[in-house]
Amino acid sequence: MNYSELLQIKPGSEVHLKKIDPNYTAEHTEKKSAGKHVEKLDRKLRELQYLLYAENKRSLLICLQALDAAGKDGTINHVLGSMNPQGARVHGFKAPTKEEAQHDFLWRIEQQVPNKGEVVIFNRSQYEDVLVVRVHKLVPEEVWKGRYEPINDFEKNLFENGTHILKFFLHISPEEQLLRFRQRLDDPARHWKISENDYAERELWDDYISAYEEAIRKTSTKHAPWFIIPANNKWFRNLAVARIVVETLESLGMKFPEATVNIEEIARKFHHAELEEEKKIGKSKWKGAEAKSDKGSKKDERANQHGK
Ligand code: AMP
Ligand code: MG
Repeated sequence: MNYSELLQIKPGSEVHLKKIDPNYTAEHTEKKSAGKHVEKLDRKLRELQYLLYAENKRSLLICLQALDAAGKDGTINHVLGSMNPQGARVHGFKAPTKEEAQHDFLWRIEQQVPNKGEVVIFNRSQYEDVLVVRVHKLVPEEVWKGRYEPINDFEKNLFENGTHILKFFLHISPEEQLLRFRQRLDDPARHWKISENDYAERELWDDYISAYEEAIRKTSTKHAPWFIIPANNKWFRNLAVARIVVETLESLGMKFPEATVNIEEIARKFHHAELEEEKKIGKSKWKGAEAKSDKGSKKDERANQHGK
């Protein structure tokens, strides 16, 4: 089953979050049996990200949006945890700083988009400017209403310049949110995640849902689609996001770049140096002899070289 199809909001279609079950787990019934799929996906994710980095032609931008406690941090930890830190980074957007507030709302976003070969995850994004800003009436209605189009233009321009964009809304139920707030209260290691503000925001649940529905409907495009991720089950949330990222990267048909140097000439020089070394210290003592007879698979070598 292709999750990119299954969970994507088709351009222009209506979004009714109340009709989408946050407990949905597709063909999976429990965390344990999904585990081996997750492991496989994580390996694949790592290989594909390495290829994206090596190819150095295009990039991937992941926008993560959700209500409090829906699991943005956990998703980032999972997805980024499978990747090589060289070539992957996360950027969180908070309320604009004084300097950011001096510019148009996309100014700070533009500065954080990925370079070629890079994966960047936005923990909150340009969408806060049609979500929190709308719900809290931080700007007049005509201002936030005028932002969907610039967002679409901005994302189209990124896509045309080689950035693939995936936008995820992590969908939890209000009951699940309250349960997670309780877990935060009960666990001193999570106290830092709680604020009184969380409860005030929760009161605005329906306003946020309306804002999300409109934003997703108006900005899910072919070049920058939205996915609604049922997220009451953390294991399914991680599996679904990883799978969509893998499907997307696989669809790019990436290839390792051709060598830019003369490999035959370098190999000839290497063999010459190897012979010289053997002559100097004797074949049996030379470490290179061991390395030659101890060749692992290509994949193992690559995995060792690039950590994990
Ligand atoms: P957190 O993600 O929990 O660290 O919180 C970041 C806070 O910054 C959230 O309450 C967001 O709603 C808020 N925030 C992010 N972007 C904006 C924005 N453009 N305008 C106002 N508040 C924002
Ligand atoms: Mg928070």
